Amino acid sequence: MKRTAVYPGSFDPFTNGHLNIINRAMKVFDKIIVSVAHNVSKKTIFTIEERVDLIKKIFKDNPQIEVDSFHGLLVEYAKLKKTNILLRGMRSVSDFEYEMQMAIANKTLNPDLETVFMVTDSNYTYISSSLIKEIVTLGGSARHLVPEVVEKKLVQKLQKKQGDSSTHETRKQGS
Ligand code: ADP
Repeated sequence: MKRTAVYPGSFDPFTNGHLNIINRAMKVFDKIIVSVAHNVSKKTIFTIEERVDLIKKIFKDNPQIEVDSFHGLLVEYAKLKKTNILLRGMRSVSDFEYEMQMAIANKTLNPDLETVFMVTDSNYTYISSSLIKEIVTLGGSARHLVPEVVEKKLVQKLQKKQGDSSTHETRKQGS
């Protein structure tokens, strides 16, 4: 039987930490569905379509990886994808509390659902999407933290944002 896992997340943006988890999980699962969550409560830098598109580019030559997005309950989405395995990454003790709560909540919704955690390699423990956004916004390079396509898109996006707000500032000062 083929083992498929759903790897859900915000991936805003997709980082080398996410990549590390997927590369290692590919040795455990036959197929991994990387699925971008529509999370209305989170303010994101990239749209769902942009995130899906970037992740698709990263895995374009890899038939083991499917890239998708989902709305609503993860348990329902997993059913739709005909799997009962969720994959999550664990960086530190601070991830543990949240991840455990989510795993238990999902299990109460579907007792057959299993959440599999992979502990990140030590080189990636400090990498988070929010840290990367901060570095790039402040003019730093995220080249060593994210895949190349993500870095290019991040710079484009954040520089455009800064350009827009400085134009706005200039207009405000001039008015
Ligand atoms: P979410 O908003 O669902 O937490 P993220 O994109 O932040 O989405 O994370 C998706 C998953 O990847 C989570 O399980 C998270 O713990 C894991 N993850 C995030 N960054 C790393 C990293 N640097 N190393 C390993 N796992 C990570």
